[in-house]
Amino acid sequence: MYHIPLPLLKALLFKYPPLLILFSYAVATILATSLTATGQFVNLKIDGLYLRRPISVCDYDDSTITLIYKVVGAGTEIMSTKLPGEKFDILVGLGNGYNTDKSGENPLLIGGGVGVPPMYGLCKKLVSEGKKPTVILGFNTAEEVFYKEEFENLVITNM
Ligand SMILES: Cc1cc2nc3c(=O)[nH]c(=O)nc-3n(C[C@H](O)[C@H](O)[C@H](O)COP(=O)(O)OP(=O)(O)OC[C@H]3O[C@@H](n4cnc5c(N)ncnc54)[C@H](O)[C@@H]3O)c2cc1C
Repeated sequence: MYHIPLPLLKALLFKYPPLLILFSYAVATILATSLTATGQFVNLKIDGLYLRRPISVCDYDDSTITLIYKVVGAGTEIMSTKLPGEKFDILVGLGNGYNTDKSGENPLLIGGGVGVPPMYGLCKKLVSEGKKPTVILGFNTAEEVFYKEEFENLVITNM
């Protein structure tokens, strides 16, 4: 687990919440050693709030980490006001993540709402291993659908 300030690279508002936040991760080696599996989460410290807010890692590479979250209360509201260049106090590398050794060749991934983001990283990993996942995603309303194209670029996706 690492405790570091992360500079915000980009905040992109979908037509409707959830928000997508893309952090640039300054030290690639820290990223490589702290995020060990898809499905892990981070804990974000929010100014003025005692408890950290957990958000799943949607995707990551050597220089970025992508989080997608829905604004539901005070913490996520404050997160949504952050601008590129501002920093978050963040704990990374939390949770065990998914063990894809156990997936089989044709895994079925099912996610709904704020449970969708970690499915993306998992799907990417499975595809990179030559597996053929089927994805089923659920959302409350059509307006809340996000990452449709991103999933469809990987595999056949059912919504
Ligand atoms: C391991 C883990 C991973 C998570 N990953 C994600 C993620 O990738 N994306 C994401 O958007 N959220 C995710 N969540 C949920 C996220 O942590 C909460 O939505 C967030 O902490 C709410 O903080 P807040 O201060 O905005 O709301 P709070 O002030 O804590 O809550 C405000 C109100 O919203 C309600 N509420 C809280 N959470 C939710 C929710 N998820 N849906 C609907 N109502 C809610 C509360 O009951 C309360 O009434 C994850 C939670 C866990 C435990």
